[in-house]
Amino acid sequence: MRRIALLGATGSIGASALDVIARHPDRYVVDALSAHAQVDALIALCVRFRPRRAVIAEPARYAALRDGLAAAGLPTEAMAGPESLVEIAAAAENDTVIAAIVGAAGVASTLAAARAGKRLLLANKESVVLAGERLMAELRASGAHLVPIDSEHNAIFQCLPADGSRAGIRRIVLTASGGPFRGWDRERLTEVTPEQACAHPNWSMGRKISVDSATLMNKGLEVIEAHHLFELPAERIEVVVHPQSSIHSLVDYVDGSMLAQLGQPDMRTTLAVGLAWPERIEAGVAPLDLVALGRLDFQAPDTAAFPCLRLAYAALQAGGSLPAVLNAANEIAVSAFLQRRLAFLGIPALIEDTMDRLHALPGDTLEARLAADAEARNVASERLARGAVS
Ligand code: NAD
Ligand code: MG
Repeated sequence: MRRIALLGATGSIGASALDVIARHPDRYVVDALSAHAQVDALIALCVRFRPRRAVIAEPARYAALRDGLAAAGLPTEAMAGPESLVEIAAAAENDTVIAAIVGAAGVASTLAAARAGKRLLLANKESVVLAGERLMAELRASGAHLVPIDSEHNAIFQCLPADGSRAGIRRIVLTASGGPFRGWDRERLTEVTPEQACAHPNWSMGRKISVDSATLMNKGLEVIEAHHLFELPAERIEVVVHPQSSIHSLVDYVDGSMLAQLGQPDMRTTLAVGLAWPERIEAGVAPLDLVALGRLDFQAPDTAAFPCLRLAYAALQAGGSLPAVLNAANEIAVSAFLQRRLAFLGIPALIEDTMDRLHALPGDTLEARLAADAEARNVASERLARGAVS
């Protein structure tokens, strides 16, 4: 029996995870659930999954959670605040942590799960971009087992040798759908709205990652994520646009073999891999209908129209704190775009402007990276408020 802490239970990944978990009550028990501020949604999940503990990250919502759980007649203990996320990620009562919070807000709990030696199902890619060196060091020290949940990294995880060896790998190839604006030029991109950006052609996801997919920053973050998780330099991580999203990524070996993982664009597959590995369990996902699919297309990414991918490679090459700066500026830019305070093309402009203003600082402690994150948020917010980028 695996006992699971699910951080970010009310989100898109959270819902996919709970769908798979509910299919296998003989294998999985939910020990703890968390949400940001959505008390009613969290209580509804507690009614269904009866966890031992529930955390609302926003401290002001604590009383509402406690009273709501009591009113529902549940024995679930209410907790609140970011430190409670760390506590449930590290708790001895569970052996498996699903890190599905969005953004840098997930970094402390992700690291806590790694330090505590849990099986870590990692969706929160921003925490790898921010603190990848720390995360890998914690995993090595504790012997924790990480299974990437990002579909590309999960595909590569499945295509790598089971013994963990990296011998014979020439490069890895991350596929990108190209998002809703694939093939558009900069002129057409000037008028893009949040609604258009969030309408992804293949995947149904949270709003932040949907915008990241539309700008190609999602792929940029994934290149940095792959660099850490698979210990490969930037030159050996390639991106190819594949509009059907059927091949989730590939490993290219020196003998000319390319191994790919294919499937529906449905995150329940990656979550089932993470939950059951090395076994395979039913995930509610139909097989790909290859004949109906008919063809697989590939194109080079257009980094002139979508500079975010180029900026992410630049941040990775610069190293140190620059990936943290890139990530923080992106979070500010995406949030401003979703609030209609910044144009779509203002997203890469604000990130580049922020990166130009901040030097890469050495030091890979969490404190150093959080300081770089905070400074980048300040610079980006200030440039935005001044109208320096629009
Ligand atoms: P989402 O917005 O749907 O859900 C985010 C979850 O995090 C919610 O439960 C929310 O309550 C919680 N949360 C948000 N801000 C928080 C904060 N400050 N403190 C604590 N909790 C907070 O996002 P999602 O699409 O499920 O994505 C989650 C993560 O998984 C992201 O890092 C994303 O990049 C990654 N990911 C998602 C998909 C996908 O298909 N949705 C695919 C690959 C990777
Ligand atoms: Mg992905």
